[in-house]
Amino acid sequence: MKGKVAVIVLGGMPSGVPGNLAAHYSSPDELARTFARAGAVGVLALPNLRVLEVSWERAVQGQQHPVMVLAHPTSQQSVDIPLVTAFNPAAANTLLKGSGHTFEELLALADAGKPMPHFTLPVSLRGEVALEKSELSSVNVVGRLPGSEPKLAGESVVLSAHLDHLGLGEPVNGDGDRVYNGVMDNATGVAALLEVARVLQEKKAHPRRTVLFVAVTGEEKGLLGSRWFASHPPEGSGRMVADLNLDMFLPLTPLQRLVAYGVEESSLAAPLKATASRMGVEVMRDPNPEANGFTRSDQYSFILEGVPAMSFRFGYRKGSKEERLHKEWHAKRYHAPGDDLSQPVDREGAARFVSLLADLTSRVADAPERPSWNKDSFFRRFEQPGTPAPTAQPAP
Ligand SMILES: [Zn+2]
Repeated sequence: MKGKVAVIVLGGMPSGVPGNLAAHYSSPDELARTFARAGAVGVLALPNLRVLEVSWERAVQGQQHPVMVLAHPTSQQSVDIPLVTAFNPAAANTLLKGSGHTFEELLALADAGKPMPHFTLPVSLRGEVALEKSELSSVNVVGRLPGSEPKLAGESVVLSAHLDHLGLGEPVNGDGDRVYNGVMDNATGVAALLEVARVLQEKKAHPRRTVLFVAVTGEEKGLLGSRWFASHPPEGSGRMVADLNLDMFLPLTPLQRLVAYGVEESSLAAPLKATASRMGVEVMRDPNPEANGFTRSDQYSFILEGVPAMSFRFGYRKGSKEERLHKEWHAKRYHAPGDDLSQPVDREGAARFVSLLADLTSRVADAPERPSWNKDSFFRRFEQPGTPAPTAQPAP
């Protein structure tokens, strides 16, 4: 592909590729690395509208926010392709003209989970990229509850949630409202994290391992704060052994079912299932694996540093009223000004989720064994062998 522009027709993977693996290889950085290795100078994605969570028009508006990158890139982010963008799927056939293929045919193959053909397009593309650059700084906020057991206090369990959202943008409802509030995404996550901290303090819990409460910045700009934190943990963080991440856990309904991204991958499944069954909550499979939930939020930064991790969302059965609520929420409020305080929230569901999370945090922090990746987990490869546990600093 030397000097060529790769056109990715549709995200996703053939059926049969496990969801978390597909999510990893579909992550923007991993795709960029793959195409950079092949010599491509640009990447055009043709989104599959069936899978896209928002309309094309909303997706375009979302692109008008500035791009941000870390001033000091971490080893997790090292590839630079000059032009990476998406192409309006409504005009896809202008790209495919003369190739002997149509977009409809490719969509049908993708939707059936069949292998996709690859071929050269007879069109060429010339692009000019103008950049206006400026620097800014933003902070991660970290609270630390020191572990009580000298042998385990040098290990830490991280609770993470992103504190940023999108700021000001284009109004979408014709009401002129430009404030992207980010109540579900992700004030709820930060609130849950603070609540767990409060509950543990109130209970005078003294977890054996250290617990870190980490509100990270820049998630919406590409997991920037968590990338920095996970690869450059500040002094006193100890050896991070688990990350429990919160990013719009979506308490739209009572808490009956919970999706835990990553539950298939590590021993964190056992304490989660124990606490969920105690509360009568079913831990269910991700009903929407094409959305790549496992790699789309801050837990992924920890996974790439070898730390077993999970992230949570209220679950629903296919075809249920709950599914409709979730779909409507994405269409209307996700990354839109309508993600505000006037929307319905199931407060009891949210409170139950916080209890579950506090219990889970205690279980992981108190367990004699530190969490580990399953033997057959793909993500085990990121583990850093031989990292010695730092000297323990027990609580006074
Ligand atoms: Zn978001």
